Amino acid sequence: MTAPPCINPSLIRQYLYCPAAAYYVIAGLAEPPTERMKKGKETQKEAVEAVAKALGAEAVEHSVQLRGAGFCGVIDAVLIIDGRPAPLEVKTTTKPRRVPTPHKAQLGAYMLAAQAHYGKAVQRGYIYYAETGETAEIPLTQDLKTLVLYTADKIRQIYTGHTPQPRPHPNKCPGCWYRK
Ligand code: SF4
Repeated sequence: MTAPPCINPSLIRQYLYCPAAAYYVIAGLAEPPTERMKKGKETQKEAVEAVAKALGAEAVEHSVQLRGAGFCGVIDAVLIIDGRPAPLEVKTTTKPRRVPTPHKAQLGAYMLAAQAHYGKAVQRGYIYYAETGETAEIPLTQDLKTLVLYTADKIRQIYTGHTPQPRPHPNKCPGCWYRK
């Protein structure tokens, strides 16, 4: 298999959660959408509008197909704040005490794609956690860029035949769909 011209940011999240999970997605064995995910998509538009208003966005675009910097995928929304694009990802869960690295990195890939797509510097993005109605602001730091690009390279290696080692973890494996 050859690596695709662009990588979906959700694969960045999957790989950082566990490389084996990304491997199964690439092999065509992705977890099907759960009822919670489907319901989340239905209520997403209202949530996006509320977040845009709270952040003082001048404009909002829903379900934007972003492509650039080696990434492509549909982000839930792009807010325009002070003339700059800021991707917004909606998660159906509660906001964790610390935003997990896989969530930051997924958004980081969308931020890099948005820079290329809009031709404007992106300084930050947002994650809205619908269950608790909280929004996390994620800056696009150099460390985050490095992590995202490093992970994208690892994913390309899977496409070209590398089988990654699973990273079993007592907090992750019991609830992981790929366990079966
Ligand atoms: S069950 Fe554990 S090792 Fe297997 S894919 Fe899930 S997190 Fe990774």
